[in-house]
Amino acid sequence: MAKKQNKERSSITKVRGIIQRIFLFVTLLLGLRHIMPGRESTGGAFDVFCPMGGIETFFRYITTGETLKTTNLLNFAVLIGVIGVSLLSGRSFCGWMCPLGTLQDMFAGWARRLSSGGKRHIRGKQSKAKFPMELPPKIDKYARYLKYVVLLVVLIASMWTVYPPLREICPARAVFSFQLTPLLASVLLTFIITSLLIKRFWCKYLCPLGAFLAITNKFAPLRVTIDKNNCTSCGRCETECPVDIPAIPDNMRSLECIQCLECVETCAVEDTVVLKLG
Ligand code: SF4
Ligand code: SF4
Ligand code: SF4
Repeated sequence: MAKKQNKERSSITKVRGIIQRIFLFVTLLLGLRHIMPGRESTGGAFDVFCPMGGIETFFRYITTGETLKTTNLLNFAVLIGVIGVSLLSGRSFCGWMCPLGTLQDMFAGWARRLSSGGKRHIRGKQSKAKFPMELPPKIDKYARYLKYVVLLVVLIASMWTVYPPLREICPARAVFSFQLTPLLASVLLTFIITSLLIKRFWCKYLCPLGAFLAITNKFAPLRVTIDKNNCTSCGRCETECPVDIPAIPDNMRSLECIQCLECVETCAVEDTVVLKLG
């Protein structure tokens, strides 16, 4: 099989990195805007830009016509946008846009560099760096269900709360709202430490928004496919997967896939892992 070395493929990671950083930058601006002096500059809570806020306030809105405090109809608009992207391309929001996902990728990259003595990682090669590490497969397998439990708890809690249930422990607010309470500061610290130790810890195990969007991976028309006739089971694709999906060729509709296309870029066998519509 011919080796894939073309420039188009090596540019996927670069394009993704640029798009991720744009969303990260815009989110930082939104957070900063909220704490700028002047009444008109605050323009409501930072929470209103969060798609998860739309899920949290949904029950209250359909039963009373009002939203939970610190949320408003903008949360629904953002949520509808994220759902639209997901219906087309699965959890691509997680792989390309979510600023929390981007930060976790950045922390994982820094941890890898620091714990490998500054050695450059070679794409497709098993990393010798100590961090980020993976949980033992059995623990990892069951721990990934935790985020569905979190989603369920949030949905149930949202029927009785006045504020969004996650508000005081949300890592997005901890990072971007610039209004740290002691509790949010400890969430921020935990987020940083876990992201350095384990790739996308929050995404894999805890995030209710990721859990909510996961089902779209099962039917989204734009998706990564693998031609198993070409696959040599070399495992290269798995070395770069940000969410550590095991046996990628057998799990192409995994609920965990964030459609980052790292496997498309890493597979060395021509036309084996491709992005396909339909
Ligand atoms: S799982 Fe949650 S935190 Fe992770 S990228 Fe998706 S929405 Fe963002
Ligand atoms: S399976 Fe491929 S597209 Fe999905 S998360 Fe892993 S590397 Fe990204
Ligand atoms: S799909 Fe993955 S396992 Fe198969 S040849 Fe490509 S990199 Fe190797």
